[in-house]
Amino acid sequence: MPDIHETVLEIDLGALEHNYRYLRSRIRPATKFMAVVKASGYGSDAVAIARKLVSLGVDALAVAYASEGVALRKGGITLPILVLHPQEGNFEEIITHNLEPSLYSPRILKGFHEIARREGQKGYPVHLKFNTGLNRLGFWENDVRFIREEMGESEVLSVKGILSHLGASEDLDERDFTERQIAMFRRIVQEAEKALGPIPIKHLLNTSGILNYPEAQWDMVRSGIGIYGYGNDPRFDPELKPVVSLKTVISQLHRIEPGETVGYNRAFRAEGYKTTATLPLGHADGIGRHYGQGKAFVIVKGKRAPIIGNVCMDMLMIDVTEIDCKEGDEVILFGKGQSADEFASYAGTISYELLTGISPRVKRIYK
Ligand code: PLP
Repeated sequence: MPDIHETVLEIDLGALEHNYRYLRSRIRPATKFMAVVKASGYGSDAVAIARKLVSLGVDALAVAYASEGVALRKGGITLPILVLHPQEGNFEEIITHNLEPSLYSPRILKGFHEIARREGQKGYPVHLKFNTGLNRLGFWENDVRFIREEMGESEVLSVKGILSHLGASEDLDERDFTERQIAMFRRIVQEAEKALGPIPIKHLLNTSGILNYPEAQWDMVRSGIGIYGYGNDPRFDPELKPVVSLKTVISQLHRIEPGETVGYNRAFRAEGYKTTATLPLGHADGIGRHYGQGKAFVIVKGKRAPIIGNVCMDMLMIDVTEIDCKEGDEVILFGKGQSADEFASYAGTISYELLTGISPRVKRIYK
């Protein structure tokens, strides 16, 4: 008997502990470790992940938006929480919940400064984010003068950190680009400290940065995908263990005759006698239509079975003709036997997208 009876996302907190300790072992003991738990902990459960990491001694957490930081505070997390992409509408909320914004443009700095002043803040901790080539979010190098002028002699804000983000740290063919980003960050740090005084926490590296460019770790690293055991390259690092597994069970078996079709739009047509299994999950659970029509495989009794026809909203069908299985048997989409990277690659995507797309209606269970 399988130990599950419905679709579940199994979260292995032991694997999380392993990955955290492993990634920590790759940096200097004094370097702080910030765990990125945005997007519900990369699709898992941010509060559960954060609580476990707090028990292991993580130094800080990062989220994308203020609402995610508020959810962590409501879950009892008291650690510093960096909000990577603060929005103007959330500045009061950030202050109320003692979150630390990553300020990334003159507009955002000015706006946050004004609200913090209005709220009577003194020495409110902020981080300054610079663009070093990703061209997504961040001050430009020559904004240092603006920042100096905006801060003036005001004591409302205190620059606790300075950061940038690498754009291709997992891609060793882009080593020159990454090294240019690192050199640019070094220059910006020097200029910023000259203008603003010492900045306690300088941070640049994401997971693959930790593994490939440890010399650039400065005072803190920010790891996301690695703590969940994945990378965006399936050859990433064999030391990392998958934290989340998506499992389900066979709802019903159908034996169909040659020429019969399966599912909407008759997208699968049987060429011989077939046995198909219907599974209780679909695109509303995060397994989109790109996984259908024979492109992706799931694991049944240790064997690969293709997803056939069109993925429906709440169901999908697989071909189990060659597999000895019965209704109620366990099926693994990703986890043991097939990593999230492998499964994601069937649909031409990466584990980040697959994991963060598993919808809230999929029950989270813990191991
Ligand atoms: N830092 C920033 C600014 C990010 O946006 C992210 C993730 O997108 C991370 C760190 C973590 O990156 P990774 O999941 O590759 O470790």
